[in-house]
Amino acid sequence: MNDRPRYSIVAPIYNEEGNIQNLYDRICQVMDSTGETWELVTVNDGSRDRSFELLEALSKKDSRIKVVNFARNFGHQIAVTAGLDYTSGEAAVVIDADLQDPPEMILEMIERWKAGYQVVYAVREQRKGESWFKLMTAKMFYRVIYRITDVDIPLDTGDFRLMDRKVVDALGAMREHNRFIRGMTSWIGFKQTGITYVREAREWGETKYPLRKMVSFAMDAVTGFSYFPLQIMIYVSFILGVLAVLAIPIISVLRIILGSGFLGGQVTTIALLLMLSSFQLFFLFLMGQYVARIYDETRNRPLYIVATEVGFKREESPKTHEVTPETEK
Ligand code: UDP
Ligand code: MG
Repeated sequence: MNDRPRYSIVAPIYNEEGNIQNLYDRICQVMDSTGETWELVTVNDGSRDRSFELLEALSKKDSRIKVVNFARNFGHQIAVTAGLDYTSGEAAVVIDADLQDPPEMILEMIERWKAGYQVVYAVREQRKGESWFKLMTAKMFYRVIYRITDVDIPLDTGDFRLMDRKVVDALGAMREHNRFIRGMTSWIGFKQTGITYVREAREWGETKYPLRKMVSFAMDAVTGFSYFPLQIMIYVSFILGVLAVLAIPIISVLRIILGSGFLGGQVTTIALLLMLSSFQLFFLFLMGQYVARIYDETRNRPLYIVATEVGFKREESPKTHEVTPETEK
């Protein structure tokens, strides 16, 4: 028995009643042109409009449409995660429901996938219909993230991407609560490639990412993939330490030049203050290192992801694998 579709499309939905019919039509058109089997897994992320009713109606008409209905709004990244958890295709594509990501691009992604890439992400060459504030902050955000994170997260890339089943399973094994999916996919590895596209303006409605959500999203990205903020302390501590040692000679010289009244009796106080601050920051840095390690352990990511096993008989492979190529959820 094999009723697994070849492709799974995942669309998170939050108050998108005006986009659903269009989304369905465009996806059908594109996916039917592949001549292969597919499913559309939608996740209704606690919409307060008629989104769920519309999705349910579509699903009753067309059995390829599936709906995961959240009990409340859990947020975009969680909705995408749930959608992926529910897919069964050999490859899955995550796409926004507002049609900012043109479904026609999926065909190009599939081509790359067939050429042997396990992740095909879409890079926004241009974005239409966004405020200059969003454009600027997004641009800055991706560049800062790129510099300070330990994994290479491609620039100007959203969650619009195709992932092979192996990647979807690996992502599914990462159960951290603060999820920055585009970073997590980079962390997983495998053969990845990008294709460029022009991001359209929203078809209907407005963005569900107000500034508040954007800031917390950025925090998830930084804390999830970088210890840089914790590492800054050691540099500041070092600078203060050097200043503490230099304070006495520098002020002595200044006194010779400016007269003995300069800074009165405060030299030792200043030197002591610098010294103490330097010590404190150093121990804060050390604490930070412990916190970082506790964080690493509690996040409980798989230690490694295996892409292929060569020369083993099935029984020989280690039993401790959290994710192996053949693992089924
Ligand atoms: N979305 C969601 N839950 C949320 C916010 C957004 O499922 O809490 C969905 C939304 O319906 C859309 C996608 O995530 O399909 C991207 O959201 P949006 O278009 O508002 O983000 P933007 O494109 O403005 O960054
Ligand atoms: Mg959008």
